[in-house]
Amino acid sequence: MEELPTLKILTLGDASVGKTSILLRFSEDEFPKTTMPTIGIEYKTKYAEISGRAIKLQVWDTAGQERYHRTLASTFYRRANGIVLVFDLTDKTSLEHVESWMKQIRAKADPKVAIILVGNKMDLIDQNEFPEGKSLADSYGIPFIMVSAKTGKNVVEAFNTLSEMIVMHD
Ligand code: GDP
Ligand code: MG
Repeated sequence: MEELPTLKILTLGDASVGKTSILLRFSEDEFPKTTMPTIGIEYKTKYAEISGRAIKLQVWDTAGQERYHRTLASTFYRRANGIVLVFDLTDKTSLEHVESWMKQIRAKADPKVAIILVGNKMDLIDQNEFPEGKSLADSYGIPFIMVSAKTGKNVVEAFNTLSEMIVMHD
């Protein structure tokens, strides 16, 4: 069987913003009541069709100890085709830290890496818009999308948007 093109995607963001939950929602369509803190680095594979092409998405979930995670081996950044940068819509600090995550990405990832900013836990807020997230994403020239790993809202859309960005400048 022919090898499918593989897109490597990395989830980044502060501890507890919901990186593991987003990945489980995307890959298994599940939202477990308790998530195990991620130990080291794990990935899940999902097949998708992006712009009419069958592809394999390899989504890497990064470690629970986000302090360790900030110093993540550069190879993980370097190999990523796309990055899902997550913050928690109910946690202002996690939004403030987006800037330092972007610095890490700029320093370590391929300059052409596709990035989307994801505001998670949409189910906990009663707005359909989040101007702070949108304007921050605009300042980086990247898309912003609000999701909920809990309800599943926009999770697939977020990965599709990112995958299309990758496939487009390929
Ligand atoms: P990680 O440290 O970034 O991997 O975050 P986790 O996926 O472990 O999630 C941290 C906590 O937030 C857990 O208690 C999750 O159940 C919760 N959580 C994650 N996503 C959502 C969401 O979309 N809505 C709500 N209400 N809780 C969430
Ligand atoms: Mg985790």
